[in-house]
Amino acid sequence: MEKAKQAVSESSVIVIGAGIVGLCVAHELRKAGYEISIVDPEEPGSQCSYGNAGAISAGSVAPLAMPGVMKNAAGMLLDTDSPLHVPWHYWLRAAPWLRRFVASATPERVEQIAQALQDLFADALANHQALAREVGCPQRVVQTGQLHLYRDAAAIGKDTGGWRLREGHGVRFEQLDADGIRALEPAVSNAYRAGIFMPEQGAVTEPFRYAGAIAQAVRQQGVKLIRDRVRRLQPSSERSGAWQVECEQSGLQAAHVVMAAGIWSAELLRMLNLRVPLESQRGYHLHVADPGVSISRPLVLADRKVFMVPMETGMRISGTVEFGGLSMPPTPRRSELLGVAAAEGLPGLRLEGASAWMGHRPCLPDSLPVIGPVPKLPGLWCAFGHGHLGVTGSINTARWIAQGMRGRFDMARFAPFSVARF
Ligand SMILES: Cc1cc2nc3c(=O)[nH]c(=O)nc-3n(C[C@H](O)[C@H](O)[C@H](O)COP(=O)(O)OP(=O)(O)OC[C@H]3O[C@@H](n4cnc5c(N)ncnc54)[C@H](O)[C@@H]3O)c2cc1C
Repeated sequence: MEKAKQAVSESSVIVIGAGIVGLCVAHELRKAGYEISIVDPEEPGSQCSYGNAGAISAGSVAPLAMPGVMKNAAGMLLDTDSPLHVPWHYWLRAAPWLRRFVASATPERVEQIAQALQDLFADALANHQALAREVGCPQRVVQTGQLHLYRDAAAIGKDTGGWRLREGHGVRFEQLDADGIRALEPAVSNAYRAGIFMPEQGAVTEPFRYAGAIAQAVRQQGVKLIRDRVRRLQPSSERSGAWQVECEQSGLQAAHVVMAAGIWSAELLRMLNLRVPLESQRGYHLHVADPGVSISRPLVLADRKVFMVPMETGMRISGTVEFGGLSMPPTPRRSELLGVAAAEGLPGLRLEGASAWMGHRPCLPDSLPVIGPVPKLPGLWCAFGHGHLGVTGSINTARWIAQGMRGRFDMARFAPFSVARF
């Protein structure tokens, strides 16, 4: 035991998971002087962080569960082609999570959540731009603004609560009429005649390439990227002073462990008797190399909850929330529906040769991720559950953890994100 104490450096950290969150954490910790190993059985950025829409939406401070959520969701749940789908066989499994989701939609709780998200997303675009410069791809994070499209001004009324909440939290936006929309985005259909433009939002021009650039940079800075799957963690004891991390092919130890395994984090934490209500909201994309129409920024079809985003490699159409867990195969109908909606929003869109993808958004019922140290398990940190906004939230998650580990962070700011809130 004495031997282990000597062998493990106080500055050693194992990051579990090389998605956008784990990569950003590794980068910030390395900058702060820590010795980092990232463990992941897959290629960095190849899971949920691969196929997202890449939007950096710091203004998205409204949680998914807003007051009146049941009224709005009920109709969608009955329509199997709506953007929200829970297959019948999954209802029983999803019920406890959905109960918590609905319970978080009180006006008071929504205000607290928005405040926490505002804190987490502050300067997300500028901070991602700084990161992109540091890892040698400054062109890959851009301030484009984001345009939300509605059929008419009355339709915006349905989302008034969300827009008011954003306004109250300092998010800038302006309402556009049909001419205003066409001036910004001439390819948009006349069926969408009202819009809300958020000029301060941005985007990653290709999420997988961005993750790859961060992975390459941290490797060059001496971070070890280990292709292995973590099976079990064992807490540090006073005598050993080290966390034991058992992988399929190797055994590792370090003074600190950061759990950044996205949707898979809950399963690993369960072995430590930590129960986290993490649920996959399965999201889809269609990616078209040659869409035949051109757009300049992320566009959101508000009625269909569909994002259409210009990327280095073509156009990505993404969206849909499907429950169903980790083992159910992708549902081809979900990605087909994205194509139908996008073609309505962008007449002239060519979908030939589009590739389809599905990924697991790691979602907590209150729309807040789990970030920070784990009470009573010194050395263990959480950085997962970023749901629909993991690209956006990854950078400050990483900065907070790096500062927290060094004792240079107001730990009270972790409170809304604590694993102990469940
Ligand atoms: C369709 C869609 C669109 C989206 N659009 C946006 C958007 O526009 N903007 C935005 O901000 N967010 C968006 N998101 C959300 C965002 O993609 C996620 O929140 C984010 O990718 C989560 O990153 P992560 O690093 O936590 O998880 P992941 O990228 O899933 O990474 C987790 C990693 O952990 C690894 N792992 C799992 N088990 C183990 C184990 N036992 N041992 C070691 N490693 C393990 C996995 O292999 C994986 O690489 C979108 C998501 C989807 C699905």
